[in-house]
Amino acid sequence: MLVQASTQDLSRPARHRSAASVEIEALSKVYGDFRALDDVSLAVEPGEFVAILGPSGSGKSTLLMAVAGFIRPDRGRILFGGEDIVRLPANKRGFGVVFQNYALFPHMDVLANVSFPLRVRGVAQDEAQRRANQALDVVKLAGYGARQIGALSGGQRQRVALARAIVFEPKVLLMDEPLSALDKTLREQMQIEIRELHDKLQITTLYVTHDQREALTIADRIAVMDKGRVVQLDSPQQLYRRPRTEFVARFIGEAAILPVAELHLAGTVADTGAKATMAVIRSEDFALTRNGGSGDWVTIGGSLRGIVFQGDSWLLQVDLASGQTIDVRAQRQFSGEVAALNVGQKIDLHVHRDRIHFL
Ligand code: ADP
Ligand code: MG
Repeated sequence: MLVQASTQDLSRPARHRSAASVEIEALSKVYGDFRALDDVSLAVEPGEFVAILGPSGSGKSTLLMAVAGFIRPDRGRILFGGEDIVRLPANKRGFGVVFQNYALFPHMDVLANVSFPLRVRGVAQDEAQRRANQALDVVKLAGYGARQIGALSGGQRQRVALARAIVFEPKVLLMDEPLSALDKTLREQMQIEIRELHDKLQITTLYVTHDQREALTIADRIAVMDKGRVVQLDSPQQLYRRPRTEFVARFIGEAAILPVAELHLAGTVADTGAKATMAVIRSEDFALTRNGGSGDWVTIGGSLRGIVFQGDSWLLQVDLASGQTIDVRAQRQFSGEVAALNVGQKIDLHVHRDRIHFL
């Protein structure tokens, strides 16, 4: 996973010159006495792919709808290529949108659906169809133009929706959970395809998802939202390794979050130079056996509450002396060690000091 992500980073082409930036400045939106957006700021660079990630109700769709122009925020600015567009109606913004509920026209065939945005813009039929066919080619649906929407699978429909969103070469592409109706295998395949499409077209993209793995897979940077606020904006690797708050640490990946005092870390906390109170340890960073100098390792004792086999790995639940139960992940290559364990026994968990992140 980590290796793949870094290769991906290197292979990503430089930003497209004609792409535009989107700067969201201090945006707020209140429904009654509920703050759906609370002073949100977020600068998306030209050609960048930013995922907006957060639990249900955190304000992701409200933020995207405000950028699209379907919701007027109470306060704040949205700058597009440096110009404030808050008062500009949605159809004048010219952004491509793929929303969960932004349905295709069921009575038109695929080509008519995809060429529709061009026809609305006054492009002649021949030219519109030529460009729609090109867009279908880009989303790997060449030759599907004459099909009826009803005859397509869920994945193919989302590709048609994508083609319709990019056919007029928008400078900004906005997507709200476009893959959430698809099954896991297709969703993962489409994530890669959308990323490849982005690398090819370099359209500035905002992509809403509640799925942390999807966000890690697809985005250059991820804006994590909680209760109407952006709580962290970082690259996938930075977010995973250096979550800034307990909320982010819990929301992305699996982690044990322990009071620092329980780790008996002579010297180490002082080394961080901060008043850290909590330590974050990724579940997969625990080792059942230590290798290398003991000075680099911290050992935590506990008692084994349960073992679950989950295919690529084992999930161990370990009760600590404090009463806290933590999740520990052992990859399948440690099957030998795991097989030797019995529920209820004492167990020592080892963590390399470099793998401990302090909050
Ligand atoms: P998300 O997309 O992250 O799940 P939303 O942006 O859709 O969250 O909604 C954030 C919160 O704002 C939710 O609690 C929702 O109930 C509330 N909300 C959204 N739209 C409206 C509306 N038109 N009227 C009242 N409350 C709304
Ligand atoms: Mg939503």
